[in-house]
Amino acid sequence: MAPLIEARKLHAGYQGVPVVSDLDVKVNPGEIVALLGPNGAGKTTTLLTLAGELRPIAGEILVDGVPTRAALHKRAARGLALVPEERSVFMGQTTAENLKIGHCDVEKVLTLFPELRPKLKTTAGLLSGGEQQMLSLGRALGRNPRLLLADELSLGLAPLVVDRLLVAVREAADAGVGVLLVEQHVTKVLKVADRVLLLRRGRVELSGAAGELRSRLAEIEDSYLARPGAAGSAVAAVS
Ligand code: ATP
Repeated sequence: MAPLIEARKLHAGYQGVPVVSDLDVKVNPGEIVALLGPNGAGKTTTLLTLAGELRPIAGEILVDGVPTRAALHKRAARGLALVPEERSVFMGQTTAENLKIGHCDVEKVLTLFPELRPKLKTTAGLLSGGEQQMLSLGRALGRNPRLLLADELSLGLAPLVVDRLLVAVREAADAGVGVLLVEQHVTKVLKVADRVLLLRRGRVELSGAAGELRSRLAEIEDSYLARPGAAGSAVAAVS
């Protein structure tokens, strides 16, 4: 079976200037591929290019084995769900309205995140950061996607909330969804991911099975620390 999405020799960036070069990645049904790397490594650029939000500068993107240059809305119609870095909820609408606008299986979302049930009539802007992110991820998973691309789900959230989100992602993968996960919490993500790509300065520095890379945490940590001025974020990243 062809991967849900694949990039071959992808060069991605802005105004024709690549910030990611020669990237090969594929995501198969049922697996979580984690994209790690220090700030500015090119993770978000890669994710947005795979999603169809950015045009590749060079190289190829294949969806279900077929080369495509389709935009995000077309890829979404074929089962791609994107959770961008900024929470993708309508802050002025209630939780229930957000789920309705997203054409979600509401009961599925409430089973995933029961803490949203008492908040159905609450305006999303008044939810906690964790609840907003549950709503954001719930809106993506509630549409029963085949492929989930998620950018820094854990940003600014308490460890317990991060665990809840990552468990939901793992369960989705176990049910057959392919996932590409950009994450800063290296230790946590290595527990749920199947494969890992470590990006640095726009190139893959390290890749392999998550189980194998768990024993190479120090090496991953070094990659974060190797970027001048990034020592503080590296400590946070592996905590
Ligand atoms: P972070 O973990 O900090 O979010 P990242 O690994 O996701 O970083 P990107 O956001 O992909 O990295 O950024 C990679 C490079 O591309 C950075 O040097 C950044 O300044 C640059 N960049 C990002 N967005 C744009 C843009 N809209 N126009 C020009 N350059 C950009």
